Amino acid sequence: MKAIAITPGTKEVELVDREEPFIHAVDEIRIKVLQVGICGTDREEVSGGRADAPDGKNKLVIGHEMFGQVVEVGKAVTKAAKGDYGLFTVRRGCGECAACKNGRSDMCYTGKYTERGIKGADGYETEFVVDKEEYFVPVPESIKNIGVLTEPMSVAAKAIDEAMMIQAVRLGDFDDVTHWLKGKKALIAGLGPVGLLAALALRVRGADVLGMDIVDENSARPQVLKAIGGRYVNGKKINVEEIGKTIEYADFVFEAAGIAKLQFELIDTMAKNAIYMATGIPAEGRPLTMPGAELMQRLVLNNQIIVGSVNASRKHYEQAVNYLVKAKQQWPEAVDKIITHRYPFGKYDDALHNHGEDEIKVVIDWSRDGAK
Ligand SMILES: [Zn+2]
Ligand SMILES: [Zn+2]
Repeated sequence: MKAIAITPGTKEVELVDREEPFIHAVDEIRIKVLQVGICGTDREEVSGGRADAPDGKNKLVIGHEMFGQVVEVGKAVTKAAKGDYGLFTVRRGCGECAACKNGRSDMCYTGKYTERGIKGADGYETEFVVDKEEYFVPVPESIKNIGVLTEPMSVAAKAIDEAMMIQAVRLGDFDDVTHWLKGKKALIAGLGPVGLLAALALRVRGADVLGMDIVDENSARPQVLKAIGGRYVNGKKINVEEIGKTIEYADFVFEAAGIAKLQFELIDTMAKNAIYMATGIPAEGRPLTMPGAELMQRLVLNNQIIVGSVNASRKHYEQAVNYLVKAKQQWPEAVDKIITHRYPFGKYDDALHNHGEDEIKVVIDWSRDGAK
């Protein structure tokens, strides 16, 4: 079978032949891959950045945002049957730490986890994959055309879930914590796929969503944001250093831009008792000069919280599926516009390029005869 592989640390990407995987244990599931999403991580990997081949190999099959259909299940499998749609999660625990031993490899203490398609384990840019039932997440047929968005949505779902839990604990005495986001102001900085999917989830929860990016108002991402009832702020047209004066105070800040200076400046947009979830990972750059005392003063005097969040647990994948189902019911046309580019696997080179302001999510299609 075909697979898209890289030689980590180089810019070499190629279509390779791999042996087809089959079920060898009673708790395994075999999936025919239908689509795999491409994100910044894949693009970093193919440009020689962060990626590790499995032990003893020099090549890594890429791809972590998968979606497919079950073709065979082991005898002990109860949560999936032939014909079901679904996906496998990305991270596999270290097997040593308390988090990983409790099914929360997204909170791993040792850093010795592996990630399919990224770190020490082959990924999903191939025709068939086999893995354990515990890593399988079912996706209903009603969202099969966007099921490939589950993994990036799980990242947003985790950040929102954590924010809700933290706010429930500290505001529970006087705020409606079960519907805490309803009617609250949510600011999303960076409308890439994760930011836009966060907007979708926050709109599903009834938040008043303001999305900020630097792309043209009429390009694809602001258009989707507006179609789901969000408002757009063009970061190019405001003075970011005075962001707090320009943007109304937000109860919830979801950061997905990965620009360190902006990450700090966003503190100025926080309302009293607000929570700020950071998910963007900035590249290393020059040290920043910031009004540190003012920022910390604000944070303390307004009871504000900043939390970093990465990856997702199984629970968040399930929440992601729910968000997608609800969003698809409410805004079917807008949701379908999030996948802007689909390429047969033979055109992986085109898929891995950037496509400018008209790009939201690019997927590689393994369902057809995609050799061309
Ligand atoms: Zn990704
Ligand atoms: Zn661990």
